[in-house]
Amino acid sequence: MPTSLSGRLDAELAGLRAQGLLIHPRVLQAPQGARTRVEGRDVVNLASNNYLGFANHPEIKARAGEYLREWGAGAGAVRTIAGTLQIHEDFEQQLAEFKHTGSALVLQSGFTTNQGVLGALLQPGDLVVSDELNHASIIDGLRLTKATKKIYKHADPEDLDRVLAENDTDGLKLVVTDGVFSMDGDIAPLGRLIKVARKYGAVTYVDDAHGSGVLGEAGRGTVHHFGYEHADDVIQVGTLSKAWGVVGGYAAGHHDLRELLLNRARPYLFSTAHPPAVVGALSAALDLVQREPAFMERLWDNTRYFKAELARLGFDTMGSQTPITPVLFGEASAAFEASRRLLDEGVFAVGLGFPTVPRGQARIRNIVTAEHTREDLDLALSAYERVGRALTVIGS
Ligand code: PMP
Repeated sequence: MPTSLSGRLDAELAGLRAQGLLIHPRVLQAPQGARTRVEGRDVVNLASNNYLGFANHPEIKARAGEYLREWGAGAGAVRTIAGTLQIHEDFEQQLAEFKHTGSALVLQSGFTTNQGVLGALLQPGDLVVSDELNHASIIDGLRLTKATKKIYKHADPEDLDRVLAENDTDGLKLVVTDGVFSMDGDIAPLGRLIKVARKYGAVTYVDDAHGSGVLGEAGRGTVHHFGYEHADDVIQVGTLSKAWGVVGGYAAGHHDLRELLLNRARPYLFSTAHPPAVVGALSAALDLVQREPAFMERLWDNTRYFKAELARLGFDTMGSQTPITPVLFGEASAAFEASRRLLDEGVFAVGLGFPTVPRGQARIRNIVTAEHTREDLDLALSAYERVGRALTVIGS
């Protein structure tokens, strides 16, 4: 007898339940923002990736509406068939100019971008060396390729050097790293990684999902922050869903990169293009960040304040250097309990345990945004103080 569908579903769900890994996403009953509503409670929201507060910004929504009215609800086809609208091309040009790169292509999401670009670029005989903490979409993207895969220790240029010295090839060599790591909030030591990569003739591939709109002049990203945006041996990918507040992914770099991807990247070739409203919102987001430096200034002011106050209270923010602010609780049960208690106190912040983060390093990940007021952050800090004391994570 083959396995029945209900047998498979029961067994899988029971397994997840037994390991405490069954997820029930919390439902927001109000739009994304510094304050929102979760399960009937008004809360300060420290759970989103809405770094600049663009997800519900009036100017961005207005441009989305204009493009919707002018260009319609949908793109109508995959881009290579009949789905490339003039606005798609114009936005990619705007993005390449913003990024200071030779070309840029937009895909459906950050996740599919890693699948599309890694799948398009890597061939059998190539070598790819990836940071051990890289995002799941990189790991899945690499699974699609027949390149030889090696791992180097997290953010460790010396270990990268060792791996590249031990593994030679005449094929393409690719070093892959997140620009900002999503669980710890640390910045990759990109200058040193690129130097090591170049010593071995390797290209560097940076997933800047959490650096775009956060680092570099006007949020141009981690590669810009380190001064490599003009380098032809650096590929930038990222998402348009976090700081840019909407949805989508991009790849930017060498002037021929776009041309290769639009011939070979499978999500581009076989999945329908973004609807016009998305393109309008994204083009407004890029205009806004360049016109109004205040968004990034507030993001960083808030980040510095929140981290310093958490440290003053005695919490361990795990060396984070960015608005991603983890608070270490150790055991997963403690992090989940703290997250529940914070919600009772009007603070929405998500607990993360193994396998998302290493065992014994369970944490709550807080993301500060430009939209938070001092009052929002102070409310969260006093809730943290009470919950931290009650769970004896900090002294009284
Ligand atoms: N890369 C990294 C480093 C991410 O954190 C994420 C978002 N979770 C993605 C890629 C995927 O981006 P998207 O949500 O646009 O698919």
